[in-house]
Amino acid sequence: MSANVAPHYELFIGGKETPGSSGERRAVLNPATNQPLASTALAHAEDSRHAMEAAESAFRSSWWATDDGGRRGKALLRLATLIEQQAEEFALLETQNMGKTLRESRGDVGFIVRTLEYIAGLADKIEGETIPVPGPRFDYTVREPMGVTVHIAPWNYPLLLAMRSVAPALAAGNAVVLKPASLTPLTALRCARVALEAGIPAGIFNVVVGNGSEVGEALVGDSRCRSVSFTGSGEVGVRIAELAAHRVIPATLELGGKSPVVVFPDADLERAAKGIGFGIFGNAGQMCWAGSRLIVARAVHDELVAKVRGIAEGLKLGAGTEEKSEMGPVVSHDQMERVLGFVHEARDSGANVVAGGSRVTEGALGEGNFVRPTILDGVAPTSRVVQDEVFGPVLSVLSFDTPEEAVKLANDTRFGLFASVWTKDLGTAHTVARQLEAGMVTVNEAPATFPQTPFGGYKESGLGFEQGRHVVEAYTRRKNVLINLGSAKPKR
Ligand code: NAP
Ligand code: MG
Repeated sequence: MSANVAPHYELFIGGKETPGSSGERRAVLNPATNQPLASTALAHAEDSRHAMEAAESAFRSSWWATDDGGRRGKALLRLATLIEQQAEEFALLETQNMGKTLRESRGDVGFIVRTLEYIAGLADKIEGETIPVPGPRFDYTVREPMGVTVHIAPWNYPLLLAMRSVAPALAAGNAVVLKPASLTPLTALRCARVALEAGIPAGIFNVVVGNGSEVGEALVGDSRCRSVSFTGSGEVGVRIAELAAHRVIPATLELGGKSPVVVFPDADLERAAKGIGFGIFGNAGQMCWAGSRLIVARAVHDELVAKVRGIAEGLKLGAGTEEKSEMGPVVSHDQMERVLGFVHEARDSGANVVAGGSRVTEGALGEGNFVRPTILDGVAPTSRVVQDEVFGPVLSVLSFDTPEEAVKLANDTRFGLFASVWTKDLGTAHTVARQLEAGMVTVNEAPATFPQTPFGGYKESGLGFEQGRHVVEAYTRRKNVLINLGSAKPKR
């Protein structure tokens, strides 16, 4: 175990480390070895209530919600600076806990820092409007913080996806309670401590670690919860929406995807192949917006698949902590079994396994959850591997003859998170970008996003959005104030 990793982490509630009501602990594993990395306190529903209470009390009594937004912005900027100063520690911790390569974790930390900087600048720009009304009256709106907001995060980008919604909720003046995924809680716990150092008042940023079905449901069902932001599976997303409906609170849902990569015959195939490799083998394919369906013009099918195969077979698998590694393990043994289940089912139904198709069983990597970069050709458009989210390094290949057929195949899933188009023709690029049912489209680029660009899905990929300048408003509520200016009886 590296000296940089603390052996045990407590919950973080009300600005204090706390062991939780039961005193129970739970091990956190390193997916490259399946050996224990650290342990955390294990929260139960009672601890969720303590966290909500601490958040509500800090919201009411600290300066956070009521002082000038610029002061909140400064605290968020200090948090960005502190994380940047500890970037290597954060990256190493993320890699050890989640498995992704150090290069990828460094990228995540950079994105978190940029998000905080960007969002910090919005904290003093939460504005209302004045609205002309008849008679001697004056009408205006104000945007107020909601109160306590709950954030439930997945394990694939543990701190990044947590902070993507926590940062704007904080900028808007809310107090937050974050529940990271049980597999990957460490960076969130570390971040909450750093937030306190940055001057964010005690109780404004709380973290509880426990099972989603108990702790997550208790947080969303709590009468003090004013909004929930969830990133994770569609199945749990629907449950969150039900809980939110019962409480009549807004829910932002960032769910799964089955993103198409549409390659036209005139595309730069070399660049496209690199983009495809990045989009499906990056983070070992554990990306909600992974480009998991290659939809390629039949005329260039063989050439492009050969290039992507070269990339797949050239990737160096290894523990994320090894600088030379280009692809790490998947997050857990269960996840590996799930991914391989999809591959075996596809092979049994006649798919052609062009690359990979198995886990690594030899040597030290055999102890971890390493799945070889996999390409499946000759798959049926209706098969499970094409329709369901695999969440691993598995690319399915489909071919088309006409642009209409390409768009039809691309839109033929229940998801609509992201799509990419590869062509040199401007008309094709714009026309197809418009026809794709996806919340995000790239042209001649692998999946790419920035803190200033909105991130959200169509169809069953989600509800609402994160990122972009309007996200802070999503964590406010709007009040209309009407003032009668005259003593005269107002005209109706
Ligand atoms: P998950 O099982 O849905 O879990 C996500 C989070 O929800 C975890 O913190 C989990 O806690 C919690 N949770 C589970 N059941 C809950 C319940 N009944 N009530 C409240 N919270 C509950 O997803 P995952 O396995 O971590 O992540 C993989 C999935 O996330 C994939 O489907 C992927 O597409 C999706 N994803 C989407 C995006 C996006 O931005 N659109 C980004 C990343 C991932 P436990 O860990 O304790 O179970
Ligand atoms: Mg899960």
